[in-house]
Parts: sequence; C-alpha cells; structure tokens
Amino acid sequence: GKITIAIDGYSSTGKSTIAKRLASTLDYIYVDTGAMYRAVTLFALEEGIINDKGKVDEATLIDKLSDIHLKFVPNTETGRSEMFLNDKNVEREIRAMRVSGFVSKVAAIKEVREKLVKIQQEMGKNKGIVMDGRDIGTVVFPDAELKLFMTASPEKRAARRYKELLEKGEEVTYAEVLKNVEERDRIDSTRSISPLTRAKDAIEFDNSDMGLEEQFERVHDYSQR
Ligand code: C5P
Repeated sequence: GKITIAIDGYSSTGKSTIAKRLASTLDYIYVDTGAMYRAVTLFALEEGIINDKGKVDEATLIDKLSDIHLKFVPNTETGRSEMFLNDKNVEREIRAMRVSGFVSKVAAIKEVREKLVKIQQEMGKNKGIVMDGRDIGTVVFPDAELKLFMTASPEKRAARRYKELLEKGEEVTYAEVLKNVEERDRIDSTRSISPLTRAKDAIEFDNSDMGLEEQFERVHDYSQR
C-alpha cells in the first residue's frame, strides 16, 4: 500500500529533485514545504514587515498570519505544482535570493511553524505523499514509513544552487550563494524550535559524489522495501 515519505536535509542537497521524481514514479503527491516558508517570507517583505537592516518584526508578522493564504496549483503545461500566495502565482519570486536571505529568520518563528505544520499534516493525512523540508521526519510526520536525511558538502550544494540561479537569469556570484547556503544551514540547525536534525530512524544519504540516476535508483529501492 501507499506510504508517507519524509525527505529532510540541508539546503540544496537535491531533495526536491529526488522527491519530485519519486512522487511522479510512485504516483504520489509531492509537497515542497520550503516553498511555504518562502511564501510567508515574501509576504513579510511585501508588507514591509522586514526592515532595511533585515530585522523581522515578529509581532506584526504573527498578527498578520491569518491574512496569508497558501495554495499549490498544478501548472497546466508542466504538471508541476506552483506556489500561490493570496491567489497570486509567486513560484518565481520565492526562489530569488532576496527571499533566500530572510527565509531562515522567518522559519525560526514558532507561530509561523505552527501554522505551516498544521497545513502540511492536513495535506498528508492520506498516505501516498512525498514531502521535503527540514522537520518532516522529526515533527510533521514522525511516523513516516520512510525517512531520508540528505547531505552533501557545502561546496557541492552551493555549486548546484548557483547553476540553478544562473539558469533563471539571476545575477549572483558563487560566493554569495555559498554564504547563503551556509548561513541558512547554521540558522536552521541552531534555532530553538524544530531545529534541522536527522530523525533517529532516518537513513542518511550523502550524495556529494552521486549522479542523479544512482540517487534515484537507491531512493526508489528504499521505497519498495
Ligand atoms: O527547501 P528550501 O531550501 O526551499 O527551504 C527554504 C528555507 O525554509 C530553509 O532554509 C528553512 O529555513 C525553511 N524551512 C523550514 N522547514 C521546512 C522547510 C523549509 O524551516 N520544513
């Protein structure tokens, strides 16, 4: 029967690439929880809740959380789901460096996590889901039948993210991307609520030196056990 698959790990470890492909092969639903934290961050930026110095006005954001409506809508051409924030397609905007620079601060706010975890648990209440994030195996679905914890060296990860951003036409340097990846991992791993950590029963998966096909084959094998 269908199971719940939780994929966690550091930034840009290729979680979403593997998760998407696994979901499509198994005919499961794929949920990118990072997109949700990114959309809340975009909302905060648009509302001026993050000031010029990068400080997040937590009280105001918490107050306005009920004004944030998130939805995943499948793109009719690609079939891939895209993030909608208050009925606007923000799929492109949420991937920009501007959002990446603040998202870990926003994701460290307890009330933000409570709101998003609730939505995620609702989305996964029927099995047949692949969800990727930072706290899926530890907090969102502690009973998931398959948990993976993906890792790779920071340099490999930054190189992957850098290539992606360049392909999207963003003007960034490799050094900026590496700095952002390391900074997010540091904040994500040390925050007081739901820090990024491997669930005891998660399989650690280091893909620093593994091609996509090999990764996918292994992960697919795990899902069939
Ligand atoms: O997965 P992605 O890199 O898009 O996630 C962006 C950020 O959102 C992470 O660096 C982390 O701060 C936050 N996040 C989180 N918990 C999740 C998913 C993402 O804290 N389940």
